[in-house]
Amino acid sequence: MAIDREAWDVRIRAAVEELTPQLLASSHDIHANPELAFREHRACARLADELEAGGFTVERGAGGLPTAFKATFHGDRGGQPGPTIAILAEYDALPGIGHGCGHNVIATSALGAGLALAKAGVPFPGTVMVVGTPAEEGGGGKILLAEAGVFEGVDVAYMLHPSQTNMVKRGSLANSRVEIVFHGRAAHAAGAPDLGINALEAIIQTFVGVNARRLHMRDDARVHGIITDGGKAVNIIPDRAAARFSVRARDRAYQRRLMEMVHQAAEAGALATGARLEWTETRGYSNMIANAVVADVFAKHLSATGRQVDEPRPNQRMGSTDMGDISQIMPAVHAYLGIAPRSVPNHTADFTAAAASPAGNQAVVDGALAMAQTAADMFADPSLVERAKAEFQERLARGEVAGYDAWIEAGQAYTPAPRPA
Ligand SMILES: [Zn+2]
Repeated sequence: MAIDREAWDVRIRAAVEELTPQLLASSHDIHANPELAFREHRACARLADELEAGGFTVERGAGGLPTAFKATFHGDRGGQPGPTIAILAEYDALPGIGHGCGHNVIATSALGAGLALAKAGVPFPGTVMVVGTPAEEGGGGKILLAEAGVFEGVDVAYMLHPSQTNMVKRGSLANSRVEIVFHGRAAHAAGAPDLGINALEAIIQTFVGVNARRLHMRDDARVHGIITDGGKAVNIIPDRAAARFSVRARDRAYQRRLMEMVHQAAEAGALATGARLEWTETRGYSNMIANAVVADVFAKHLSATGRQVDEPRPNQRMGSTDMGDISQIMPAVHAYLGIAPRSVPNHTADFTAAAASPAGNQAVVDGALAMAQTAADMFADPSLVERAKAEFQERLARGEVAGYDAWIEAGQAYTPAPRPA
């Protein structure tokens, strides 16, 4: 017998309404107690406890990460098999400004979506998972969890992120970072400069070389660096100097070309000065490709909360997220919900305030409802999941996404992401 979707709809709405005080209490608690990447012990424990109390089976420390969890709820519809839908929760904060990226909203909307499906009490074919993914702000918790097999068996994954507008199809940039160290030779800068090799000049030449390429980079290129070591004293020729670059683009192939440009600039710096180059690249985040089938279902339910859902503009500015890596291995969506005006960007103190404001609260409630309803649609009509997977396969054939095996292989080329201390 088919699921009565309309009756289920009413029960999910009622569940979210009943859960609202609990979700907002959690959102404000996480907001008031910001924890940095891999140290989100309080938030992780609170979310895991609430999911367990709501009927989920919770695996704490999932994937070997102490502040990750995997909470599972089976719809138990007469043992009927069905899809596994993962809703992802981030909860790490930023140094200095707390929840300036509003991850408390991400965490508690995911919590609400999961709890609402369990609480609505309608048996459904399939499994809903809420996965607690630490360290989005550097550390790449989702990458570590995917490498550890935590997403095995998941058919579709999605999440939301607070922002300035409502979007479901916005992507993100592929990135990676490089640490550049030049080794020269120290000498008295006035008394014996002819005996020195200037490592700082090699760094400066690297920046000049990168800037010489900027006109020839695609519009989506983002190459930004800082000098992390420029020498110790003005009267010593620096024998060591260092810089860090972040290199981003819309797709990994072009991101690799940009990184090669930076490498050429650094080699030119070494050649020009005689300093020795030490080059250490770390794995970054993959670009996000929104699955259109899942995104359309998500958008329908987001619109139903009264929000205007915008398509991303063709030249939309974007950052990077480890959700991009999930989108490389399965159908995925990283939606955005507006909680602040356009003049208030993420990663600012004003955005921190917005994450606990009435608009932030509304995003928790609207997000929980839209994400629960999205899952309900896919459980009620598994052909949606089949279409989402077919779209993923088409993108795989076109080379737009990597697929799991190629993604794992590409990651092995890099130094492992920093693990929790
Ligand atoms: Zn964020």
